[in-house]
Amino acid sequence: KHAAKIRLDDVKGEQSREKDKADRATSEQVLDQRTRMILLQMINRGFVSEVHGAISTGKEANVYGAVAYPDLDGPPIQRAIKVYKTAILSFKDRERYITGEHRFKSGAEKGNSRKMVKLWAEKEFRNLRRIHSAGIKCPEPIQLKLHVLVMELLGDRKGYAYPRLRDAAISGDDSEEVWRSLYIQLLGIMRRMYQVCRLVHADLSEYNILYNNRQLYIIDVSQSVEHDHPRSLEFLRMDIKNTGDFFRREGVEILSDRAVFDFITA
Ligand code: ADP
Ligand code: MN
Repeated sequence: KHAAKIRLDDVKGEQSREKDKADRATSEQVLDQRTRMILLQMINRGFVSEVHGAISTGKEANVYGAVAYPDLDGPPIQRAIKVYKTAILSFKDRERYITGEHRFKSGAEKGNSRKMVKLWAEKEFRNLRRIHSAGIKCPEPIQLKLHVLVMELLGDRKGYAYPRLRDAAISGDDSEEVWRSLYIQLLGIMRRMYQVCRLVHADLSEYNILYNNRQLYIIDVSQSVEHDHPRSLEFLRMDIKNTGDFFRREGVEILSDRAVFDFITA
């Protein structure tokens, strides 16, 4: 068995505490004891072998790169680990997604932030599973433990994550045609997500879509709602507007929001 190696300084705990004090003070990436324990447990069970640095540090979650060695001699598999933060404040404005969500009627008590982050991670895991099984490109969910979610890394073999659509470098003679086809690709994804997964993303924008080689990937689905959620159509209109605005700014001749709405829901 491969020796489990943890590279992430924050996971090391006590040993590196002194050494990294300066870094620690300036970064907001400190992992608490509980999270370190979960990561160590996942390492011991072989779901991951090494945890690397942060790909993204956000208000509600950090995403770390990681590697797993499923076979003794096989190639490493790149993974991403999303660690939800147990911060009460950032979850306040999330209430509107949970209220009316029948899958999460129990256990969503306000005020218990540890339970809340667990719930969000669970929701993301289940939504990813549903989207992935529908054949929509998104990270394959691998493992979930409390507020820690392991998924496939959308990136290259070296562990470099694909850029967000916002940062995608699309240039060249055919860029206009590429943008147009990506717009159409996204409409198809939204429709399939609605019709097959019965989900509305509810935070869809150029920030939650990754891009590689003319392919779009959907991420960040913890707030996605069932389409029988009382506000799902409101969220869908928002998704249509945000993504439409983006593609219009990129020069695509977009359809009317109304036409897109009908296409997705019909
Ligand atoms: P949040 O926006 O709540 O912080 P996201 O799920 O959008 O969380 O992840 C934050 C960023 O991390 C994304 O914009 C993306 O750049 C990166 N990321 C998230 N999941 C993956 C993944 N599976 N593969 C590669 N990069 C990812
Ligand atoms: Mn996001």
